[in-house]
Amino acid sequence: MIHALPPLPYAADALAPKMSQETLEFHYGKHHQAYVNNLNNLIPGTPYENSSLEEIIVRAEGPIFNNAAQVWNHTFFFYTLSPSPKSMPSGPLAKAIDRDFGSFDQFKEKFAQAATSLFGSGWVWLVADNAGKLSIISEPNAGNPLRKGFRPLLAIDVWEHAYYIDYRNRRPDFIRNFWDLVDWNVIEKRYEQ
Ligand code: MN
Repeated sequence: MIHALPPLPYAADALAPKMSQETLEFHYGKHHQAYVNNLNNLIPGTPYENSSLEEIIVRAEGPIFNNAAQVWNHTFFFYTLSPSPKSMPSGPLAKAIDRDFGSFDQFKEKFAQAATSLFGSGWVWLVADNAGKLSIISEPNAGNPLRKGFRPLLAIDVWEHAYYIDYRNRRPDFIRNFWDLVDWNVIEKRYEQ
């Protein structure tokens, strides 16, 4: 099975200036593509040759896990963003956020705090458990909460390659601008699935 780079759901310049065309050309066009290529080079002759990305993420270790998870994580991340996003959740997801974090603002503050303080490279996730209870999880490197049985709803990539072109070392600025691109329509659909 050959894994493919999914198309971006918007033009490369559509998220500028909050996420520039140059960032997308490198982050999607080079980094995401490289994880796809690495995975396709690694799996022939292994038990993962015909596995879905999700199956690989749950079972594999080492370079195969790292590249499969990075393919999945980046697709999930890019598909959360939109040039015309719904800026706040409503419906069942909004109720769950209020219940589990106190308010939408308190959720954003807690998520941003986790994203700011994650040391080195990694991802911060909003996840749901089987009962629909929400939590925030920080994962180093390619970490993906599917491995712990959670349903991912939202992720921010805090590897330096995600923000260094637009924000240099200012990760908090990247996180602040990230909120203006997050499409809560997408996250509501993931929650209600
Ligand atoms: Mn990345």
